[in-house]
Amino acid sequence: MKAPSINAPDRLFPADPGLREIARSLYAQVRSLPIVSPHGHTDPSWFALNEPFPDAVDLLIKPDHYIFRMLYSRGVPLEQLGIARKDGAAVESDSRKIWKTFAAHYHLFAGTPSRIWMNHVFADVFGLDVPLNEDSADDYFDHINECLARPEFLPRALFERFNIEVIATTESPLDSLEWHQRLGEDDWNGRVITTYRPDPVVDPEFEGFAENVDRFGELAGEDTSNWKGYLAAHRERRAFFRSMGATATDHGHPTAATADLEPAECEALFQKALRGACSPAEADTFRAQMLTEMAAMSVEDGMVMQIHAGSFRNHNRDLFEQFGRDMGADIPRRTEYVQALKPLLDRFGNEPRLDIILFTLDETSYSRELAPLAGHYPCLTLGPPWWFHDSPEGMMRYREQVTETAGFYNTAGFNDDTRAFLSIPARHDVARRVDCAFLARCVADHRMSHEEATTLAIDLAGQLARNAYRL
Ligand SMILES: [Zn+2]
Repeated sequence: MKAPSINAPDRLFPADPGLREIARSLYAQVRSLPIVSPHGHTDPSWFALNEPFPDAVDLLIKPDHYIFRMLYSRGVPLEQLGIARKDGAAVESDSRKIWKTFAAHYHLFAGTPSRIWMNHVFADVFGLDVPLNEDSADDYFDHINECLARPEFLPRALFERFNIEVIATTESPLDSLEWHQRLGEDDWNGRVITTYRPDPVVDPEFEGFAENVDRFGELAGEDTSNWKGYLAAHRERRAFFRSMGATATDHGHPTAATADLEPAECEALFQKALRGACSPAEADTFRAQMLTEMAAMSVEDGMVMQIHAGSFRNHNRDLFEQFGRDMGADIPRRTEYVQALKPLLDRFGNEPRLDIILFTLDETSYSRELAPLAGHYPCLTLGPPWWFHDSPEGMMRYREQVTETAGFYNTAGFNDDTRAFLSIPARHDVARRVDCAFLARCVADHRMSHEEATTLAIDLAGQLARNAYRL
């Protein structure tokens, strides 16, 4: 069968024929393995309701901030992509027009992982095999929308077709988890679990922090006007999340700072945070303390902790004011781990019941800090390259900089970290291909046998994620 030209079968494999042959044979062992997706941002209502996706734009453009950040950077206003404004002013509502705007700018994605993912979706999910551009835009739009109306493109059918073993969504403690509850009562056996992401109630700089903490108390049935009640509310909500399948928590902090303060200091800082009176440094200390508190709770309840540090969120002030968060204006920043994690590690670093997965957006920390930390502390595992580095080059750099010190088994396998449901197989496929390309080199260099590389490729494609996330 001839493969579509937009999705070549040997993509991302080394050009050298000998290496390519090894990579191909490793990949043949992993290409059809089930997808383990332990961290992501799909909408659980899709799977609970199982209604058709509305159209190509709602499914492929609007949830994907990689797409609109690129278009915005080349002068396309978000209004033109139909992104809702906070002031309710009119934005483009004609989906076909939005799709055409996207198609006219598709060349901007050359060399980016978005292009690889999109082409994979077009070819594999929708059977399209001509390149997307202004000329093909209408055909693409009509074809995708026709497909989406068919039963085999319903969320659950795609979940099964993608061979997803488990998918984790991410919710705030303020979420009722209604959709997960409905899924729990349903007889469909797709495994959709939640993740405890407490940013709105642990970050004094989060919009509406004090009101969030109030609501948090109501939901948990605890008095969150004091530090003790506030911690009790976390225990309560974590238990509720676990009852909805959660095995992990997720912490998106600007830095990896941790702290270990006395309870009286915590109370004083908490009261200041509730009054909205924290300086930026105090807010950082509060978040830092909360990482240590979350670690303490993880020791008790067994939830795996994920620390995503190093993103300067909502960097574009005007865009944030006009559209809100998650508009593609988050920018990586320099991130330090060795000093930052020390207070937490002094308390829990040798605790066998604790598992922490560390992520970075600062690649300079891989070989200098993160691989040595993960290659020493039993509680630390290194998460996959994410976000800006979730690319073939980023994945290869990660293996090159991390493996020498941390090996493979101190890494947490792959996670797709995406809202773009249809791109999930594409993202896992890229990771599998790059890992096979890296392992092919190890085999060709006689650093490992083909057999050992095969075992590793299989573990990297799923087992390491199952282990790291206790799935
Ligand atoms: Zn995420």
